[in-house]
Amino acid sequence: MINLDTPLKNLPRVTPKYVKTLEKLGLLTVQDLLFHLPFRYDDFRRTVGLSEDFLDQNVTVEGKIVKAKNIRTWKRRMTVTEIFIIDENETELKAIWFNQPYVLDSLVVGSTIRLSGKLLLNDGVFSMSNPAWERATRDATNTGRLVPIYPETKGLTSKWLRWQIKDLLPLAQDLPDVLSAEIREKYSLYDIFTALTQLHFPESREKLLRAQKRMAFQEMFLVQLQTQKIKKDWAGKNSLPIAFNEKLIQNFVKKLPFTLTDAQRKASFEILKDLEKSRPMNRLLNGDVGSGKTIVAAAAALEAVSAGSQVAIMAPTEVLARQHFESFCELFKDYNFSIALLTNSYKLTCHPERSPYSDAVEGSASEHHQQYHKADSSTSLRYAQNDRKKLIEKIKSGKINLVIGTHALIQKDVAFKNLALVIIDEQHRFGVAQRAALQQETAGIDDGNRQTIPHLLTMTATPIPRTLSIAFFGSLDLSILDEMPKNRKPIITTVVAPEENHKIYTLIKSEIKKGRQAFVILPLIEESLSESMIDVKAATQEHERLEEKVFPEFKLGLLHGRLKPKEKEDVMNKFKNKEFDILVSTSVVEVGVDIPNASIMIIENAERFGLSQLHQFRGRVGRGVHQSYCFLFSQKKSERLRILEKTNDGFVIAEADLKLRGPGQFFGVVQSGLPDITMENLTNVKLIKFAREEAAIILNDDPQLKKHPVLAEALQKFSEHIHLE
Ligand code: ADP
Ligand code: MG
Repeated sequence: MINLDTPLKNLPRVTPKYVKTLEKLGLLTVQDLLFHLPFRYDDFRRTVGLSEDFLDQNVTVEGKIVKAKNIRTWKRRMTVTEIFIIDENETELKAIWFNQPYVLDSLVVGSTIRLSGKLLLNDGVFSMSNPAWERATRDATNTGRLVPIYPETKGLTSKWLRWQIKDLLPLAQDLPDVLSAEIREKYSLYDIFTALTQLHFPESREKLLRAQKRMAFQEMFLVQLQTQKIKKDWAGKNSLPIAFNEKLIQNFVKKLPFTLTDAQRKASFEILKDLEKSRPMNRLLNGDVGSGKTIVAAAAALEAVSAGSQVAIMAPTEVLARQHFESFCELFKDYNFSIALLTNSYKLTCHPERSPYSDAVEGSASEHHQQYHKADSSTSLRYAQNDRKKLIEKIKSGKINLVIGTHALIQKDVAFKNLALVIIDEQHRFGVAQRAALQQETAGIDDGNRQTIPHLLTMTATPIPRTLSIAFFGSLDLSILDEMPKNRKPIITTVVAPEENHKIYTLIKSEIKKGRQAFVILPLIEESLSESMIDVKAATQEHERLEEKVFPEFKLGLLHGRLKPKEKEDVMNKFKNKEFDILVSTSVVEVGVDIPNASIMIIENAERFGLSQLHQFRGRVGRGVHQSYCFLFSQKKSERLRILEKTNDGFVIAEADLKLRGPGQFFGVVQSGLPDITMENLTNVKLIKFAREEAAIILNDDPQLKKHPVLAEALQKFSEHIHLE
């Protein structure tokens, strides 16, 4: 008997070749396959009689096969399968397929079939090229409906998946439902069987949307359950209270070469107040790129270290960790703290020196961080390499006050003596929903004192609309930097139509000749969570085109997700050192490093991105003294993109984006493997609030989910899916 837990390899229709491919996708059981969801649909619902009215449209045509043959073209070494059908009005249509000679076996003259595809007219004859097809007697699966398209993987076609899933779908009736009948009724949500049926083989757009809404609600409900469960555990724990030392902070602020913005002041105050409590802080600091989060974090770190405790700071990449290390060494160089950078490649400590010359081991402090310091400071910095083992020992014994690293810092063998505060930067890389997991790990850090857990400050540069964060977090511990330092020149942003591209290229040339540098950002072509080879190829080709045809006089670098970390860093360092004038990069690569000299950005096919994402990209320019530009190359005229011409305020843009594309995009990496599309359809912010309320009701009554085994199991599975790196 086949059931939900049956391994796919035991199914007679799944041959060993497929088992391997399915395993690669993490699909092991029947249940896994049922949750492998389409990411888009071809709309072949319109079944029509052949007519010029439908030219260039996607339609379905039904007809009788009157001729069928394979033609070999020796020149191009191809087989073309060619058939003719006549529809009920005796109108003829020619359909051809390339290099699939075997389809002829099924296309028997005299039988009736359905063909779906784009209708063309060649030499007066209707035609379709590579149409989807099936026998007219069959249930519409590949034609004549909303046809599901699954994320493509080599060796696994959507057609094959449809065939399997259609057959197995009735088993979904046995799935336990994570959402109770009560909740489903309250919010008119489909049960899980109906939802999966409509997701794989939707009967209509409306039913598809309802199904997506149900999955989005479920996702949000699980996120809420997990977040609140951890929050409850967390609230019951103790942390080291750190007294608010006003004098210390005043002195620190006074020495900065700028005055704090009101937003920075307020956020610092909120955080320092939290630190005073013996209940662990769990606060999110949300502020646009460049809003000055580092200083706010530094004030918190300063208090903790001055009180005799240790602080750990984490960044998502080694490059960013190193940048923070340099910033904090500068900021604290008059304080006699020991600061260390510990990542896979770095084991550094920094040492302030009075002499004007430094015998740096690993290069001296980089210039751009000097801005944190008054010009008259005579102290310089020396960076020293350390033995990893010895450094870890120093952290454990408390000789190091401040440790900076990547997220791996809290997962590895590092233990502390008295860790009071953990700061996690650029948390958006992990997604808002993954905070809970970070929190759990933070609680698990060995701080040498089992009675307390550290205070946690997470920082994100993705402005989250206020309405959304309140819906999501409820009574929230959120500090917002919604004000930019006064000295900023707004980035000039322009939407550019294809026929204007050359003008922009000319402008860029003149800027580069003046010594500036430029980014060119390319969107992903394939809709998938990671970068595919197609995207890498496209980036490589564009790099080549720009280098040969457009900017032959300049040096161009190329950055994409398939490069090894070391290679990426190499490319970025070369760009930073001006060995490249232009950096062509795919959008998945995080160019986190500050390159103040880069003042121009082109974003190609900008219409493919969300506004918030575009705003994030352009944040990489405008970091220096030069006027910066962002050019949004767009195939289509788009009013949406004009919002970016009008404002540089990330929160305003985020609100607009929330209205346009829904809240899914603000939650970062999709956790349960549901495609983005599902989250985008969670357009109703209220739904998030409802999910939070329902989760709270359940947890209040049953904090350990003992009475809700289905939920407990779903949650278990859900956390296993969260990948932090
Ligand atoms: P982010 O929020 O992106 O982390 P940073 O903390 O890196 O921003 O700050 C960006 C730059 O702005 C730094 O060079 C910092 O020295 C500077 N800065 C921070 N606060 C202010 C301020 N109040 N006035 C002027 N410059 C500031
Ligand atoms: Mg920052």
